[in-house]
Amino acid sequence: MSYLFLFFAFVRLLIQTRGRPTVPYGFRSAKHVLVIGIDGLGAVYLNNATHLLPNFSLFYKNGSAALTGIARSEMIAVSAPNWAAAITGMSPSQSGIIDNSWTPSEGSKERNEEMRKCSMCSNNSLEITPSESIGDVTVTVPSLNINGCATVTYEPSAPTELHRISSLATTPEPMWVSARKQNPLLKVAVVYSWAWIRHFVSSQTVDWSHNCKGNDKECIEKLIEFISEGSPQLSFLHLDSIDSTAHLHGFGSQQYYTVLKKVDSYIGQLLEALQESNKLNTTLIMITSDHGGYRKYHGHFNEENIFIPALFLGPGVRRGASLTNFISLIDFGPTALNALGLKPGVHMRGHVIKEIYAH
Ligand SMILES: [Zn+2]
Repeated sequence: MSYLFLFFAFVRLLIQTRGRPTVPYGFRSAKHVLVIGIDGLGAVYLNNATHLLPNFSLFYKNGSAALTGIARSEMIAVSAPNWAAAITGMSPSQSGIIDNSWTPSEGSKERNEEMRKCSMCSNNSLEITPSESIGDVTVTVPSLNINGCATVTYEPSAPTELHRISSLATTPEPMWVSARKQNPLLKVAVVYSWAWIRHFVSSQTVDWSHNCKGNDKECIEKLIEFISEGSPQLSFLHLDSIDSTAHLHGFGSQQYYTVLKKVDSYIGQLLEALQESNKLNTTLIMITSDHGGYRKYHGHFNEENIFIPALFLGPGVRRGASLTNFISLIDFGPTALNALGLKPGVHMRGHVIKEIYAH
């Protein structure tokens, strides 16, 4: 009799366990999450210089770090598509943000302009003989206009379900909105050095925000003020001085590394502020970038452009671990929300970077 009871109890347990959703590693492991986005910080350059950077080094020693080649930009090595990927968890094709000209009201102006030119050229067709004979074989040549454009006219249509996710008239959902849909009381701070980030910020969606207009020092001071006086559970910081220096003096130039050392000291100030307000042990800090670059430009598909850092420090994060699984910018949103005990946003297409946690 007792064996029979045990058997049924076992079967019941098996059914219950199988039906239960598995909770990802790191779920609810942090009280605070801080995402630091450093514009133009190529992994190739950072990995060259860690010996000069005591605060970045802490992430390599005490946290988990992706070595060169493991974390990548979302293909197009320019800022907007990649910051959108980090903020929304969607790749450029999913967010509709494919270049820096994107705005919520007009979508991608550069793309629209290309489409407009294309539709104009369709009146100027180049006549090609529809069929010709090569030897005894007759080939049919499709009729193309002079630029090879299809005959299209581009008219932005009224917002549809697709537009609500990804293009005209609406900004794709940032991670803090996804978070607040699950926890309306969650406190959010966003501080940014590149004005374009403002498209993801409104007084309804964040508690504290500041546009420091290219002044990274001011960004750090402001975020420290928000951390010390308020208590944001989710913070996003964008710094721009490395990218602007690279455009003036070159990626990997002496000036580039000088500014990188300065940014390292900013990271140190942030760690200190978190320590002083007793939040360091409960904060997951993630550092990444939008792209690297080569000489004074970025946008190409080589290692210097595409490889970006992915550094993690915080509760439960493996110490001194070199990450080996591929990491994309679209993984940062899901990882941030997971650490706070929240599910990924419904539009997010990345996944929680489980590898950073001890199993
Ligand atoms: Zn740039």
